[in-house]
Amino acid sequence: MLGPNIGMFRQRTVLDVLRPRTAQEVRDIVAGADGVSFHVFSTGRNWGLGSREPARDDVVALDLGALEEIRAVDVEQGWAVVEPGVTQARLAERLAGTDRIVNITASSAHTSVVGNILDRGVGLRRPRVDDLIGLEVVLPDGELVHVGWWPDGGPPYAAGLGPSLLHAFVQSNLGVVTAAVVRLPPRPEAVRVVWLQFAPHDLSPAVGVLRRWVRQGLAKNSLRVYNPAASVAYRGRPGEYLVHVCVDGTARAVDALSAIVVDDARESGLFTAVWDSGTPDLAEPDRELARLVDLEYVGEPDPGDHLLSAKIGHPVEQADEKAGLVFFLPVVPISGAAVQRSERLLQRMHEDTGVRYGATYFTLDTDLALAIIALRFERTEEEAERAHRALDSLYESFAAAGFTMCRIDVDHAEWADKLGPDAAGRRLVRRIKDLLDPDGVLAPGRYH
Ligand SMILES: Cc1cc2nc3c(=O)[nH]c(=O)nc-3n(C[C@H](O)[C@H](O)[C@H](O)COP(=O)(O)OP(=O)(O)OC[C@H]3O[C@@H](n4cnc5c(N)ncnc54)[C@H](O)[C@@H]3O)c2cc1C
Repeated sequence: MLGPNIGMFRQRTVLDVLRPRTAQEVRDIVAGADGVSFHVFSTGRNWGLGSREPARDDVVALDLGALEEIRAVDVEQGWAVVEPGVTQARLAERLAGTDRIVNITASSAHTSVVGNILDRGVGLRRPRVDDLIGLEVVLPDGELVHVGWWPDGGPPYAAGLGPSLLHAFVQSNLGVVTAAVVRLPPRPEAVRVVWLQFAPHDLSPAVGVLRRWVRQGLAKNSLRVYNPAASVAYRGRPGEYLVHVCVDGTARAVDALSAIVVDDARESGLFTAVWDSGTPDLAEPDRELARLVDLEYVGEPDPGDHLLSAKIGHPVEQADEKAGLVFFLPVVPISGAAVQRSERLLQRMHEDTGVRYGATYFTLDTDLALAIIALRFERTEEEAERAHRALDSLYESFAAAGFTMCRIDVDHAEWADKLGPDAAGRRLVRRIKDLLDPDGVLAPGRYH
């Protein structure tokens, strides 16, 4: 067994844990599988979805945390080649003083870049998978291949010519990824995160205003909306929603864009407070938080994980032993009606089960947001069971209301089939799997 996990998901039987140090060692292990199936992870901090746990029992865990080389960085063209054990903090550190940044997530500074992309994580600037340019993959027979773009192949153009196999290895058990080429966004000359609050009864019109900003390009980075429970970690006013709108670019562009956001907010009459890290007379703890969030948007994670520890309620290194948290991650259209529908389903779950939840909506593009629903519980069997029942009910109720999910946890693998648009499409994936991996060297995961 791999030890406790923050979600208190059932611990699966794991036959062995292997920790290769190089891509060649991964090839040797995979080629010599001899009847066993592998479950792969990078830094294994997939908190709320299972952490390091495999979806099935009786597998060998392949922990790639020791493949931790940053193989190459090109700040001129804006890419880096990183191995699975490279954390967002290490890549950010390597880019300090350059005019490139990492599109970091709001998770720990010590989570991976590669594992997060492979599970379709979300960064503060955009979905992480949008950063993906190329992959180095060990196939189930031990062959090593490169897909997408790889250094020395001209300018870093991910699509290449002909069918692209890049995304075949994302949320996939077709290969073991031993390195990725990731895009490094240009470092903005200036950044400002505007913080806004609004009352729950204004949810629908407020989302309408935010949607207009997103669609008209005022908020190019991911815009985040925290419901009253989720806003507590940011010292939001009790009972209100909190919004982060990040504008960046040249200093003059930032002044102009943030002034438009603030004016629009005031004119709408919907927002009860508006501030940013430079607002005079801000309480010092609020200014500190605002500065931390500004830094996240320019790719600088907090190495001490202070905000994250506050959200988890325990030091991050004890998250899997001490905290209780599961995530539910539906995709929600950016519209007042859809966000309201989502909030009503969550409220109903709370009334039925008593389980507490926080909801954060991250925009993925101009039309869609990812809702990060965190269900928190005390680490007792009874409380964990209640939270898991609540989680089951959310899969059912959100699917029935027409939502889909973008990531699933170790206990809900069957939803990949249930939510797939077409049975023939899913069968095609299985045919490809049978072709590449007839002996089942790579175990079925959460998406198969
Ligand atoms: C408070 C809080 C905030 C969070 N905020 C965010 C956020 O903003 N954005 C976000 O995306 N997540 C967030 N998370 C969730 C999670 O912590 C991150 O997604 C984290 O990056 C995942 O862990 P990891 O990087 O160690 O990936 P891993 O756990 O190593 O990998 C994730 C999965 O990818 C696959 N995989 C990994 N490596 C390989 C490989 N080399 N080859 C093939 N398959 C592989 C496996 O299926 C594995 O289970 C948050 C969690 C918490 C508790």
